[in-house]
Amino acid sequence: MSNTENQKEKLVEVKNLKKYFPVKGGLLQRTVGYVKAVDDVSFDIYKGETLGIVGESGSGKSTLGRVILRLLDPTEGTITFEGTDISNLRQGKIRPLRKDMQMVFQDPYASLNPRMSVGELIEEPMLVQKTLGKKERKEMVIELLQKVGLGPEARLKYPHEFSGGQRQRIGIARALSTKPKFIIGDEPVSALDVSVQSQVLNIMDDLQDDFDLTYLFIAHDLSVVKHISDRVAVMYLGRIAEIAPKHSLYDKPLHPYTQALISAVPSTDVTKKKEKIKLTGELPSPSNPPTGCSFHTRCPHAHDRCHVERPELTDMGDGHFVACHLYTEPEPKIEPETV
Ligand code: SF4
Repeated sequence: MSNTENQKEKLVEVKNLKKYFPVKGGLLQRTVGYVKAVDDVSFDIYKGETLGIVGESGSGKSTLGRVILRLLDPTEGTITFEGTDISNLRQGKIRPLRKDMQMVFQDPYASLNPRMSVGELIEEPMLVQKTLGKKERKEMVIELLQKVGLGPEARLKYPHEFSGGQRQRIGIARALSTKPKFIIGDEPVSALDVSVQSQVLNIMDDLQDDFDLTYLFIAHDLSVVKHISDRVAVMYLGRIAEIAPKHSLYDKPLHPYTQALISAVPSTDVTKKKEKIKLTGELPSPSNPPTGCSFHTRCPHAHDRCHVERPELTDMGDGHFVACHLYTEPEPKIEPETV
């Protein structure tokens, strides 16, 4: 991946971000509680990097992506893009920023209007932004189709004439048409066959260098996230359990939840024998999360403190942060797993 010298320049800053959805109940449909989909999340995304976000479904990762792009309004906290606080900007003021921040969705078919030709679909964001004339738009459509590995003739066809992988390439070309700086991929390869997944990931990788892009890549599959990311954040019940450079996280996961997730990924190295850590229980409801550490109902290392005190993300050095009491006690209770 592109780790350039400007890696440490921040493009996006997320601080204490919360997104709560009200739960209605009773005859009068009053608010009786909240689903805490994103609950006090903070991190930075540096220019040119790919930050991967992994978590089970219901962990809040997709909501987080939508709030960062302001497709959903935050409940609390700030989102800063290129030094501008965009958390409370009205939609009218967000619109000009849309050209710099785009999203690639999981289901390219649902996100592409079936009545529009591929050329029209890729051209549409340019028309909205009014940045280019007709001739330049046409040239841009052809260039983008070539960049994603589809020929110029594809612009005259319709989405149903393409395979799932090709449709995702069209979705990527459309997202690139306004020359964005930042792209959020929300499970962009999850609906594709494994063989097609790596083709699309490689295209995204190449485009990152060509277009100087920064990615936030959301997925539930740890292998997919590993393939494309520079750093990885693990989410559990709306919070970040651990965030670290890719190799640090995959080789020495610190959080018991990350350790369990990584132990379940089949190893390609036959010399490395891994013991699978089994998690008991289901993901609790985000409308009624456990007290203290929200992972304590499933954690093999849970102790008294975990039931009452919420662990904060703690700096373990070299950009590796973990939210777990095991690492903030005078006598550490476990050694990091070597996976
Ligand atoms: Fe497990 Fe306690 Fe660490 Fe939470 S804080 S992950 S319950 S050991």
